[in-house]
Amino acid sequence: SGSAGRTASREIRLASRPSGWPTGENFELAEVEPPAPADGQVLVRNLYMSVDPYMRGRMNDAKSYTPPFELGRPLEGAAVGEVVESRAPGLAAGDLVLHGYGWREYAVVDAGQVSKVEQIPGVPLSAYLGVLGMPGLTAYVGLLDIAAFKAGDAVFVSGAAGAVGSLAGQIARLKGASRVVGSAGSQEKISYLTGKLGFDAAFNYKTAPVRKQLAQVAPDGIDVYFDNVGGDHLEAALDAFKDYGRVAMCGAISVYNAAEPVPGPSNLFLAVGKRLTLRGFIVTDHFDRMPDMVAEVGAWLRDGEITFEETVVDGLENAPRAFIDMLRGANTGKMVVRLVH
Ligand code: NDP
Repeated sequence: SGSAGRTASREIRLASRPSGWPTGENFELAEVEPPAPADGQVLVRNLYMSVDPYMRGRMNDAKSYTPPFELGRPLEGAAVGEVVESRAPGLAAGDLVLHGYGWREYAVVDAGQVSKVEQIPGVPLSAYLGVLGMPGLTAYVGLLDIAAFKAGDAVFVSGAAGAVGSLAGQIARLKGASRVVGSAGSQEKISYLTGKLGFDAAFNYKTAPVRKQLAQVAPDGIDVYFDNVGGDHLEAALDAFKDYGRVAMCGAISVYNAAEPVPGPSNLFLAVGKRLTLRGFIVTDHFDRMPDMVAEVGAWLRDGEITFEETVVDGLENAPRAFIDMLRGANTGKMVVRLVH
């Protein structure tokens, strides 16, 4: 069973709560002996773990839709790994699984908290942390259900070169958008958007005001805004909307590390005259749509209609750095940490 001579595991703990931008000091690397799985549990060797923007919120001691991470305890988040020891029916050593105990090399997990993954040929396992996982579902649900996208809509996606945004833009294109435009934070990302991802136009929000650039790339206005950024991007979108426009309020990464409250858009009243819908959502309420997303996006992946990128950082010890770098925009596509190679 392998319980004798179990190897040590390392984990990343929350050492202190960041105020403003997180730093390496907020994290602590610890070595532990993974407990033996009890009846109904499996021991998983994590192969990839995810770092996601929402984790920044869980580092604050504030009430939210997810409870805060606890000080001195390992962080949590999505991971994919291989079962190395099973005491649960239906799961066997060698099975590949997705679960919520990342930020550690080995995890003991209740069988009910893991889902088996079937690898699609040519698609890496880590895709279950991105395009075929939670971020993929966020893009799918946000665009189709929350923003009620329909063929012919002109769509603006912010954070467009990231995990969620890159998929949202491609789904809009594949489902018949009249125009797909996006924003991101570097010239390389802009080339990626208009090249590989097939956006009609894109702009670097760091080089000129968003309002001005959005008006240039979408001169006839927009019907849908997929908002990953908030702040000046949301304000610009309100200006650019046609009547009956819809915003999927997905995230507001421009304010996640602000130490002081940030004012909302000064032109929010435009929602009245333009009859706009601004609708927030949390992806965990929409897991019933996962099979639809995996079927549709999986087929596009197999047919080469959708492409995705990953930025891979090696080693658990570098996970805090990967997280902070992701918040700063070092990633194109999904930022993942590879724990075994
Ligand atoms: P990304 O892969 O998009 O990574 C984050 C990106 O944010 C960075 O690469 C960076 O790209 C961009 N960014 C950082 N700071 C700013 C800024 N000040 N202004 C504009 N862009 C900035 O992350 P995800 O795809 O995982 O998440 C995207 C958004 O979706 C986040 O807001 C996240 O919180 C939200 N989300 C919401 C969910 C929900 O249930 N509602 C579920 C999952 C994600 P750049 O170089 O372009 O600046």
